Amino acid sequence: MASNKKLLILPGDGIGPEVVREVRRVIEWMDRRRSVSFDISEGVVGGAALDAEGSPCPDETVAAARAADAVLFGSVGGPKWDSLPFEKRPELGVLRLRKDLGLFANLRPAVVLDPLADASSLKADLVRGLDLMIVRESTGGIYFGEPRGIEIMADGKRRGIDTEVYTEDEIARVARVAFDLARKRRNKVTSVEKANVMQSGRLWRAVVGEIGRAEFPDVELEHMYADNCAMQLCSRPKQFDVILGSNLFGDVLSDLAAALTGSLGMLPSATLGAPDASGRRHALYEPVHGSAPDIAGKGIANPCAQMLSFAMLLRWSFEMEEDAKLIETAVQRVLAGGLRTADIMQTGMARVGTSVMGEAIVREL
Ligand code: ATP
Ligand code: MG
Repeated sequence: MASNKKLLILPGDGIGPEVVREVRRVIEWMDRRRSVSFDISEGVVGGAALDAEGSPCPDETVAAARAADAVLFGSVGGPKWDSLPFEKRPELGVLRLRKDLGLFANLRPAVVLDPLADASSLKADLVRGLDLMIVRESTGGIYFGEPRGIEIMADGKRRGIDTEVYTEDEIARVARVAFDLARKRRNKVTSVEKANVMQSGRLWRAVVGEIGRAEFPDVELEHMYADNCAMQLCSRPKQFDVILGSNLFGDVLSDLAAALTGSLGMLPSATLGAPDASGRRHALYEPVHGSAPDIAGKGIANPCAQMLSFAMLLRWSFEMEEDAKLIETAVQRVLAGGLRTADIMQTGMARVGTSVMGEAIVREL
């Protein structure tokens, strides 16, 4: 199968380039198999872009991302840039890309691979086989609503203000992503809000219900208050398939779900935009973890989250389900074979660094 899919790689800072290098090996393997040949370009973002171009997300990077069929993103930030003013922070690199490409749906799977079930939690039975997906709205809600700010009141004291605003279109489009996903999984969506105390929550519940009834009657839909969902995630996480939430609730619940799996170094994510007239949508894939400055340069970072982000990219942007599965299975088999990076180390297993892990995955492929 030939392909001229355009892939933009943005390694970024810290361990980003180290784990992206391992994905490059997988791409070389795909090349050798002649199954595909991508049209790959590489760009700068984050601190690397600040150093090279004076901006955390230069215009050329945004243009390249727009032109690409998918973006594979490493991670940004680090102590070197910590004291810069807000508008020069490396983290703005990814925020600008999300905003400029309209990436409104953040997909964060929380999966516990069998070989890691015992390591991932004190309660292995609780999470063994866990496989859920959180769909978080990522361009609206309380992180962006107006008015916002810190004001001085008449008595000279300060007050902080944030506003949650959601339009029905914003809710509907992210709901459709969640329902679509559920159809490819176990056909269930749990939509979370606080409809009991928030007006935006009331609208959220109403709109998700309408979309579900009108367009996805075959998908089971359950509404749940976000606080209850947090409790249920801790006590009975395997009841969930797809969890749909606002920017704020999705943020909190996806970190909770990540903690259930026990390893940041294993978790991928995708952020999708709206499909254009030709059905093509912008999308960015990145590990859930950050640039891990404490271990950067030591060659010990776990490349699996970046690798699995690439698998998501193949599945969602390039429609290469088979290759995505191959990579996921290879990761699982390497773990089953006993190799571990430091972050997922268990007694009796062999501790290896980033490149040995990457090589083992390619060998398994
Ligand atoms: P950000 O603000 O970008 O989310 P952070 O400082 O909150 O970053 P990380 O950079 O993800 O978080 O690091 C959190 C901890 O997890 C660090 O101790 C780091 O070394 C560890 N860690 C993160 N990613 C990996 C990885 N791929 N392999 C091994 N350890 C990792
Ligand atoms: Mg963090």
